[in-house]
Amino acid sequence: MNVDPKRTVAELKELRALTGDENGAQRIAWTEMWLKAREWFTAKLAGLPVEDHYDAAGNHWVTLAGESDKALILGSHLDSVPNGGWLDGCLGMMAALETLRGFAQTYNGRPPVTIRVVDWADEEGARFGRSLLGSSAFAGTHSIDADRGRTDKDGIRLEDALRKCGVEIDRFPDARREQKNAAAYLELHIEQGPVLEGLGLPLGVVLGTKGVERHAITFHGQEAHSGSTPMAVRRDALAAAAKLALEIRAIAGNHPDAVCTMGSVKTFPGIVTAVVGRCEATLDQRDLDAAVLAGMYKDAREASERFAKDERCTVEWSRIWNIEPIQFHPALVGLCEQAVKEIAGVVHRMPSGPLHDAAEVSRAGIPTVMMFVQSLRGISHNRIEDTKEEHLEMAVQAYGKLAEQTAHWILST
Ligand SMILES: [Zn+2]
Repeated sequence: MNVDPKRTVAELKELRALTGDENGAQRIAWTEMWLKAREWFTAKLAGLPVEDHYDAAGNHWVTLAGESDKALILGSHLDSVPNGGWLDGCLGMMAALETLRGFAQTYNGRPPVTIRVVDWADEEGARFGRSLLGSSAFAGTHSIDADRGRTDKDGIRLEDALRKCGVEIDRFPDARREQKNAAAYLELHIEQGPVLEGLGLPLGVVLGTKGVERHAITFHGQEAHSGSTPMAVRRDALAAAAKLALEIRAIAGNHPDAVCTMGSVKTFPGIVTAVVGRCEATLDQRDLDAAVLAGMYKDAREASERFAKDERCTVEWSRIWNIEPIQFHPALVGLCEQAVKEIAGVVHRMPSGPLHDAAEVSRAGIPTVMMFVQSLRGISHNRIEDTKEEHLEMAVQAYGKLAEQTAHWILST
């Protein structure tokens, strides 16, 4: 199957010029600039034998009908964070479009299976703080009541911003209809981390997305005067939190891909002349294996109780949020390995730390896999986000091969 990776790179540059400024990409979902990007994308469909429409959650679907109704879905997102990079999301979209063109051309407008390209609405959650909005509606994992009343920084309600773009939040459950005939889902994305660059590899096979345990941890001690309180009798809540901050490195270190982060620590009263009476910290733990994740959570909790006791403090935990790990489909992981090996010569398997729409699609029970391409300096969600053009081209080629193999796999299952 023929794809033209140079066209993909040229189109990405076109989109950058149209929807970015000196600070980076500005395609925030449910804004004028995002609609402009979607309009630009739609114009690229001219002349292709496709049907396109928006579903009830604002996801944009492009369908090339095939001999079989079974559908291979290729997707990603056009939206970006404010001051975002030029590749996050839109690389996957433009590679998906290029692959669809390849199928249309190679099979004279009628490929063996139906090919669908989807631009998920609001992957980033940049404006309302709710990531994976469109794909979770598609998967049926979305809770309308939890999101309806969200507001942006100007106080505009999510419900109203969506309505302005022609989307009614109460109709979200209808987006599940798009699951009909879905047989597989493939997503290409930049890695957004430093692993592939560190290994000197252009492409990676993604095994799944890590699960997350996110907690607020509060240590209670005793506020006291910093001059009059001897060291031996202090009940210093910060001391207990500090021990935990160091201990989580050992807890994560027991597992090859696990990460633990204490991202926020607040002290009260938080003045230079007082022993800390209360310390509020947050902990974010991630791994691809649910048992590992549960074990790390237990370890951190036990350690916090031990350190609290050491410092004559108490500790309480409350869960902010959690999500189960998602393991991608073994057969598709195998096909992805083959495609990466053919183009790059070497295969590297890795979990994804960030969440992606692919996790929601997989949660809906549709066989799914993702492919990563190296990110320079591991930087993303920033205007300096970049990938070597030769690596972008290899990614489009490998993704096209994966799509073709997956189409055959769909027919054989
Ligand atoms: Zn993305």
